[in-house]
Amino acid sequence: MKTATSKPRRRRPAASKTPGIPRRITIVGIEYRVVVCDDMVEVDVDRREVLWGQADFHGRTIRLFRGKGDRERSVPDMLYTLLHEIGHCIFQQCEALKACLGPKTEHEFIDEFASIMADTLVRNRICRLPGGGKLQ
Ligand SMILES: [Zn+2]
Repeated sequence: MKTATSKPRRRRPAASKTPGIPRRITIVGIEYRVVVCDDMVEVDVDRREVLWGQADFHGRTIRLFRGKGDRERSVPDMLYTLLHEIGHCIFQQCEALKACLGPKTEHEFIDEFASIMADTLVRNRICRLPGGGKLQ
């Protein structure tokens, strides 16, 4: 029953149904739901910014922008963003990685690492794209 003091519940977004993008992923023993969003504002759990992806540690979700229609992102592009957000989740759990940053910010370090990982995983067929798609 709803009372005057209860907060309105936000509808829980559905987990990913995008081929090539997992619905759930476990990182350092913590399970995250992977949620795809058609709108960049929906990616931000607080709906303040437009984002390509977001790791929500509290809600244990990784949110990715997919878009729709002729503006829908390719799976390789989403995979790169997913790896970026996985990087943030790993950083959250691993203090030793913070010593590797050097002059780069966490975001810059993760962005470069995610780009290299996405390319390596797809080119070596460790991660296969739906329909045999290729990286550009
Ligand atoms: Zn980032």
